[in-house]
Amino acid sequence: MDMSNNFEPTEIKRLDPVVVNRIAAGEIIKRPANALKEMIENSLDAKSTNIQITVKNGGLKYLQIRDNGTGIRKDDLKIICERFTTSKLQKFEDLQSIATYGFRGEALSSISHVARLTIQTKTVNDKCANKALYEDGRLKEDIKSCAGNQGTQITVEDMFFNMPQRKQLFKSVSEEFSRIMDVVSKYAIHNASVGFCVTKHGENASLRTPAKSTQRENIRIVYGGEVVNEIKSIDCSDELLQFEMSALASSVKYSSKKFTFLLFINHRLVESTALKNAIDQVYATFLPKGNHPFVYMDLRIEPQNVDVNMHPTKHEVNFLYENEIVEKIKSAFESTLIGSNETRELYTQQLLPGASNPYLDDNESMSQKKEAKVYAKDMVRSDSKEQKLEKFFGTIIKSSANESIEIGTPNEESAEDDSKQNTSSQKSFVLPLQTKIDVARKKTKLTSILTLRKKVENKCDKNLRHILAESNFVGCIDRQLSLIQSGSNLYLCDMQKLSEELLYQMLLYNFENFCEIQFETALSLKELAILALSNKESGWCEEDDGPMDELAENVQDALIQKASMLREYYGIEISSDGKLKSLPLILENHLPMLCHLPMYILRLVTEVEWTKELKCFSTFSRETAMYYARSSFNNDDTEWKWLCEHVYYDHIKRYLIPSEQLDTSIIPVANLQNLYKVFERC
Ligand code: ADP
Ligand code: MG
Repeated sequence: MDMSNNFEPTEIKRLDPVVVNRIAAGEIIKRPANALKEMIENSLDAKSTNIQITVKNGGLKYLQIRDNGTGIRKDDLKIICERFTTSKLQKFEDLQSIATYGFRGEALSSISHVARLTIQTKTVNDKCANKALYEDGRLKEDIKSCAGNQGTQITVEDMFFNMPQRKQLFKSVSEEFSRIMDVVSKYAIHNASVGFCVTKHGENASLRTPAKSTQRENIRIVYGGEVVNEIKSIDCSDELLQFEMSALASSVKYSSKKFTFLLFINHRLVESTALKNAIDQVYATFLPKGNHPFVYMDLRIEPQNVDVNMHPTKHEVNFLYENEIVEKIKSAFESTLIGSNETRELYTQQLLPGASNPYLDDNESMSQKKEAKVYAKDMVRSDSKEQKLEKFFGTIIKSSANESIEIGTPNEESAEDDSKQNTSSQKSFVLPLQTKIDVARKKTKLTSILTLRKKVENKCDKNLRHILAESNFVGCIDRQLSLIQSGSNLYLCDMQKLSEELLYQMLLYNFENFCEIQFETALSLKELAILALSNKESGWCEEDDGPMDELAENVQDALIQKASMLREYYGIEISSDGKLKSLPLILENHLPMLCHLPMYILRLVTEVEWTKELKCFSTFSRETAMYYARSSFNNDDTEWKWLCEHVYYDHIKRYLIPSEQLDTSIIPVANLQNLYKVFERC
């Protein structure tokens, strides 16, 4: 550089073509793993069934690939390292239907500009092998005959010897080696019929996959048994969008801090941020926060729809109908994951009261993760503690549950009811909360329960599940309705309906695994039945139904008969003299209202279909869910609001499997973007 103080412009000079080519080549071949990827693709194009790679110093000193493919004709060896020489593409239009890996004829030429390159090759028709040395895109000396097997052996030595600055950039040999292993592993999984072997010079093989192996087997070899045991196949295709996808993906039981995503589009190892984010998002609904899956995906798209004419180092790939294809693939993943046994098991585990391994964390909503820049109109609340409706009305929300809750005076509606119910001793309604959890979970074998669970799962509305999973609590409107925000939409939720459904599902999934809420003093079933019958709600009338006392006795006897089953499956203890000793704990921190207990007891006898197994469990669960979801109007404001947000909503967000029918209980009422438009006009 001219450091003198004169202001005359410096003369422009034409760069030496060798330098130009070297710069260009350096752009294509950034590191040994790049070069190797190109050479592996060449070997695969040449129909090899065995590919052996030898590496010294992370490939910087020495990188050799040996295949048993078609070999290269002697005449071609002369020009093979010139730029834009290829056997794979003749006209520009061919780009549209190219099925082979390489097409630019640039790889070998580039390598020869940044390293010392030797090619030894033999075709079927050659009597012996030919060996050629290249430098800067040209043959360095005459081609020599030598002994050798059919196929091609390409040796790359002293990579970047002529680019000292580049060479200095490589700090860690092991980093380069692990990149090489990564590339080979991925191609080995995709091309399971081809045997691959990587050896560090003078050592035993670092990786070896047999020829005619399977993709699962190669995943096991590379990523281990833990992954492969949890892998399932997911396929989808669409004639209109002209694509086919087959994937091997981990189930929801597997998770890792790192997202391993192997993506091949038309057999090229590529990257697609859109696809990657979409898949990660699907799993985020199922996996604990910060955990990711393993996914190998083979995507075949009509060649003319893929932009293959991209820069060799640009791995990010673009294709036509990207959004539509990504959506299709997403749904395929969702339905496979939702319907799987693993998910079911996980739900069951998670539904255990007190289990603490939520799928999601309130603090991170997916929509925020995706968007780098979030405009105010798209701003989504990320912490429900920050701002809630109450803030604007000045009410205080309790921050923790009562350790033991006094469950109420017998009936808050007592004003309009017969005063008889008050005869029941109030003291006995004080319940100590038993929160100890039985660790050894029982897995039910009852087909009826499994069928009822399956029914719930089959009806799962994926869209509603997403809305819930990504939602935050905004506030209670009244005892029935609450507002939640999901994405940039505001939803009005019928918490009464949703919590009833949640409780119903909990009863199915925690079947045989309920903790018991013990009564301090056992309650007489007969007395409870009398209380219920004397309530107008029961519709009892002496003429039609007979004497109350007799009826109450019948209720008690009917339940005594079911005592052993109720105890075993639901943790409801009834003594032989007709005393109710315990009820199931369905949701942690949630106790049913004792004021509604008499009616529940009565309805257990009148509404549950005890004779048929499946019907019995489903009607029992419905009745019980209805009872538990009933609120009491005499507990104070802060208490039910706390219950609504921290017990009901928290569980609904994580565990509720919403059916389509619930879409009338989750109603979009406002959209942030549209609201902004309204405000902008003001
Ligand atoms: P491209 O793959 O884009 O054609 P390359 O520079 O990678 O360009 O390779 C140039 C040509 O060399 C290929 O078209 C192919 O004919 C030949 N070739 C390269 N590697 C091999 C190989 N391992 N076996 C057979 N032929 C090869
Ligand atoms: Mg190539």
